[in-house]
This record gives sequence, C-alpha cells and structure tokens, in this order.
Amino acid sequence: MNRAYAVARRRMVEEQLRRAGVTDQRVLAAMGEVPRHRFVPRMLQHRAYEPCALPIGFGQTISKPFTVGLMSALLELRGDERVLEVGTGSGYQAAVLGRLCDQVVTIERIAPLAARAASLLGDLGAANVEVVPGDATFGCVERGPWDGILVTACAPGLPEAMAGQLRDGGRLLIPIAHGGEQLLYRYLRRGEELAVEQSVPCQFVPLLSGLADARAGA
Ligand code: SAH
Repeated sequence: MNRAYAVARRRMVEEQLRRAGVTDQRVLAAMGEVPRHRFVPRMLQHRAYEPCALPIGFGQTISKPFTVGLMSALLELRGDERVLEVGTGSGYQAAVLGRLCDQVVTIERIAPLAARAASLLGDLGAANVEVVPGDATFGCVERGPWDGILVTACAPGLPEAMAGQLRDGGRLLIPIAHGGEQLLYRYLRRGEELAVEQSVPCQFVPLLSGLADARAGA
C-alpha cells in the first residue's frame, strides 16, 4: 500500500506541481516526501493524491496539492526562517513547511483538529512544527516577529496586525475575499513599507474570528 502511495505521490509532484509551474526544488522534494494520505480521513486516503481539496471534518478541508505547493514556493524559504501558519487544519501544509524552514508555529481554532494534527506531526517526527490551539485572526504577536506568515483561510481584508508581525524582508501570504471571488496576495515588508507583490485567484474556507462565532451562535 505504501508503495502505491509513493507512486501516486511522485505523479502528484510531476503532474500537479512541476508541470503546473511550481519549480522550487526544495518544495518539490518536500511534497515528494510528506505522506499526504496520512493527513486525510481513512475513508478518503485512496484519493489523497488527487488534484483537489478534501474534507477533513468540522466543515474544513485540506488544500489541494497545487495550492500547498504554490503557497510554499511563494514564501521563498531557504531553511533558516521562522514561519507562522494560520489555520493548521490537517497539518499537511505545516508538515511541508517544516521541511523548508527552521521553525513552524501553526495555529488552529478547532481544538480537535489541532490535537489530531499535533499527534500526527509527532508520529511523523516533525519536531520543528508546533501546533497551538487557538484563534489567530490577528496572527501571533507574542511569538513573532516572523520571516513568513501563511494564512490558509480566506480573510475579509488585510489584517494589519499580521503585517506588523513580519520581520524586515518577511513575506505574508493571505487569501482575501472580493465579493464572490478570492485572491491570494503576497505582501513583502521592507523596513516600514509593505509592498503587495502579486495576486492569483484561489479558493479557501473562511478565516473565522471568535467574534464571528459569537455572532453566529447568537
Ligand atoms: N492548512 C490546512 C488547511 C486549512 S483549512 C491543511 O494543510 O490541511 C483552514 C483552517 O483554518 C481550518 O481548519 C479552520 O478551522 C482554520 N481557521 C479559520 N479561522 C481561523 C482563525 N481565526 N484562527 C485559527 N485557525 C483558523
């Protein structure tokens, strides 16, 4: 079975990443190694390497391989960075990041998802990835500043607080909603300036704050 997954994973890297324009060798190598099938529910494991997002419970999804590859590549990591991920979900993106930089802190507001991801990442020996249960709508100023911040849920606008937690030269990747459409933005901090570098269409679950929950529950 593991061999079949290894074959499927190699094909995923070739067809869904390299051929689709993800050329960063370190990203391709990382995604060729992380066992994506371990991050999806057992019933869906046979579909783990398909070119789509998959449900992981609690109304959330693991992003499709191309999205994980694209976002990882856009951070342009070299290996010595500290990165914050907002929205652990399955823990897959965090596992990939863990192979690309020095330290990853990933925050997840749904406690059972955070616990499951922490346990799996522990099993896989991802010692430089720390899962923190909690709300990271405003990033994580206590543990910052960050060389990279990756938001894997769609925000209604740029959370200024997050941009403020970027180290000089640091990058923030965040999907932002515009009407019915979502665009993935990359911001680069240079001194006091925050430059928007590029945007591409994307599709993510919404970034939810405690405030939104309170309203939804009211
Ligand atoms: N990166 C994930 C996919 C993320 S899905 C993976 O590799 O599987 C987006 C996740 O963001 C969901 O699990 C959702 O619960 C979480 N999320 C949404 N809003 C959040 C917030 N304000 N703080 C922390 N996590 C949040």
